[in-house]
Amino acid sequence: MSVRLELLGLMAVLAACPAPPRTPVRVPNPVPATQDPAVGVVAPGTAAPRLVVLLVVDQLPAWAFTAKRAALTGGFDRLLREGEWHTGRHPSAATTTAPGHALLGTGEPSATSGIIANSWWDRDAQAVVESVRDAKHAVTTAYLRVPGLGDAMAAANATRPIAGKAIAVSLKDRAAILPLGHAGVPIWYDPKTVAWTSTNPPAWLAEENRTHPIRPHLKDVWRPLDPARLATLTGIADAAPGELGDKGFGPTFPHDLGATKDPAQAIYAAPIGNELVLDLATTALAQEQLGADDVPDLLVVSLSANDYIGHAWGHESWEAWDALLRLDRRLEAFVSELDTRVGAGRWAMIATSDHGASPMPKGAITYQQLEDAANKAAATELGGGDWIADAHFPSVYLTKAALAQKDRAKALRKIVFALRSFPGLARVERTSDFAGHCDTRTGDAFRLCLTIDPQRTGEIIYVPRPGWIVMGADDPHATAHGSLNDYDQLVPVIMLPPGRTPHAAPARPSETTIQMVRVATILARWLGVSPPSNLPR
Ligand SMILES: [Zn+2]
Repeated sequence: MSVRLELLGLMAVLAACPAPPRTPVRVPNPVPATQDPAVGVVAPGTAAPRLVVLLVVDQLPAWAFTAKRAALTGGFDRLLREGEWHTGRHPSAATTTAPGHALLGTGEPSATSGIIANSWWDRDAQAVVESVRDAKHAVTTAYLRVPGLGDAMAAANATRPIAGKAIAVSLKDRAAILPLGHAGVPIWYDPKTVAWTSTNPPAWLAEENRTHPIRPHLKDVWRPLDPARLATLTGIADAAPGELGDKGFGPTFPHDLGATKDPAQAIYAAPIGNELVLDLATTALAQEQLGADDVPDLLVVSLSANDYIGHAWGHESWEAWDALLRLDRRLEAFVSELDTRVGAGRWAMIATSDHGASPMPKGAITYQQLEDAANKAAATELGGGDWIADAHFPSVYLTKAALAQKDRAKALRKIVFALRSFPGLARVERTSDFAGHCDTRTGDAFRLCLTIDPQRTGEIIYVPRPGWIVMGADDPHATAHGSLNDYDQLVPVIMLPPGRTPHAAPARPSETTIQMVRVATILARWLGVSPPSNLPR
């Protein structure tokens, strides 16, 4: 082989290598260590659970769950009668699905996980990539810089005679893949084939797609369980100000999937989406014999429909209430199934959310408005041109041409000033002023730092002010998430540790606010495996 060919080969190998390892950011719990709240504690002598479940309700703000709690008398009530009800705080402004799911499974914020958003501008590819999709839209875990719970299970399996299984199911690819990390079996919904798919499909999945096809549900009609009760519970009309609908659904009931332009997409924004995921989780329990032996298995169930419904109609809406009431009912059956298959008291669970959302906002800013304002400001320094590559939350990227300009620093200053004039933005900052060494920073500077991947984030970072959302002009929302505001960061955390004893269901959460970075470590402890953050990276 010629030297040149060898060099080319070496370069190909280097290009294929994963991103260099990095030191995890230790998120200091604001509660002093001596008072670190003891949550999810397992009493000494308790038998290991046979199955550990991470149940994620996508976009479930603490404020909205508390408001609906009294009406939830099914599955959620059962979980609360057995578990601890706390409030969890997501640590950064990256309160969106991919960073949130990565954090739940890895214990790491965006600064170390590398998952900064659902999608971002990739400077090398000069294209938008998704958290689990490369520039060619191929599924990948390459952007996740750290191990997840699936990796922790795989590491433990290497030294034990019986393997623990790690399976995740969701409508969303990112929600199934990221909590597991680089190993395990993630299964998600593919709207193109209207079927379940996986990077590592178990043998039974094709049969499941054949015997329980999703396609017949494309003609489903979502009608409210009880309109009179919804009117009382919400105190508003079905068509309240600000409600938009999504995926072809209008603002008011009924929502006919078959009448939308793309019913395969409409599945995401209707309760049937959650039901299909819980049906699949139930099938996985049986087919994989989850919890059948004393080596604990992991099942991640992420319920995406609540997220689309929140975006479409807001959490105060009839739709959001009806969706949670339906989930409450369906969850009761799922929890009974866990008792039947695994045994009462032999499974453990954390039920929580990847992020919250704003109450019906007072204002919205579009990415296009930000991009236009940024480009105009850059042009005052650089002259006319195409200077902005992307402005999706939470950062603004300059184009290659802008980065090549010697006056780019001046242009960045102009862009910062221009964006600060938006009344809906709380902070607009140069990313480089807040990137790296998060442990030396405090307050908002610390939280902004946790939001930033120094290599990946755009040159300018921004976060909305309370009551304001950012969104695509082509994808308007009733509400949204992604900020440092409590309504985005705070989520309910219901913990059912092994060896728990049933009790009266609490009417409100404990006074304890736990850092969401701890969830992965607690789950790993219950599973008897090393926390992902302790694995080599
Ligand atoms: Zn989400």
